[in-house]
Amino acid sequence: MQQEIQRAEKLYAMGELAASVAHEIRNPLTVVRGFLQLFGRQQISVEKQGDYIDIMLKEMNRAEEIISDYLTFARPHIEIRERIEAGEQIKQVAGVMTSYALLKNVEIYTETEEHLFLELNRSKFSQCMINIMKNGVEAMPEGGTLTVRAARQDNKIVIQIIDTGKGMSKEEIKRLGNPFYSTKEKGTGLGLMVCYRIIEAWGGKVEVQSEKGKGTHFSIILPAVSDE
Ligand code: ADP
Ligand code: MG
Repeated sequence: MQQEIQRAEKLYAMGELAASVAHEIRNPLTVVRGFLQLFGRQQISVEKQGDYIDIMLKEMNRAEEIISDYLTFARPHIEIRERIEAGEQIKQVAGVMTSYALLKNVEIYTETEEHLFLELNRSKFSQCMINIMKNGVEAMPEGGTLTVRAARQDNKIVIQIIDTGKGMSKEEIKRLGNPFYSTKEKGTGLGLMVCYRIIEAWGGKVEVQSEKGKGTHFSIILPAVSDE
């Protein structure tokens, strides 16, 4: 019974979310349609055409980003879990992000223990790490350092992602993980929601400490599996 209720709630939440995702995608479609109609009806100067095309491309990109962030969450296939080693996986993600970070004057450091075994879906885990690390980099427009640590604490694996960026107020922290909450011009506001739901589904949790102007400290806490 309990399981049925949980499932019903989950489906309801998915439906709600799908409705708001649809809404967010309809906005860019409306904009693009409006411009195309304009193009069909009147002569437009070459200069204006260029401007309109830029706007349309931006709107299309936004729709695409919303869809890809959302799909990570809603991907229907059965989740395949495997045994992964957190430190190894984190180093791999950090490697992928290095060039992006360097462009923004951010240095990434990883400090990970060995034998940090988890049983979960590898690509979803990487996606969560990328989302949180990318937010850290984006919070440091003047550059800084992003430190990622992973260690075992009793029967848990604790992963910490620490940036020296703009930080958040208590009110801002409370809104984290709400769908479409974003303070960025090009943000989707889906990245953290996706992470939170994935991590909760694995029996884990996310904690956030932050100070305005100083930086932010995300902790992901997940159940460890034994290393035999
Ligand atoms: P997006 O990155 O598309 O805005 P997210 O769900 O990834 O969406 O993040 C939501 C919001 O949370 C961001 O717009 C930002 O305001 C805030 N945020 C997330 N991570 C950090 C961070 N490390 N430092 C400061 N603010 C952050
Ligand atoms: Mg983000």
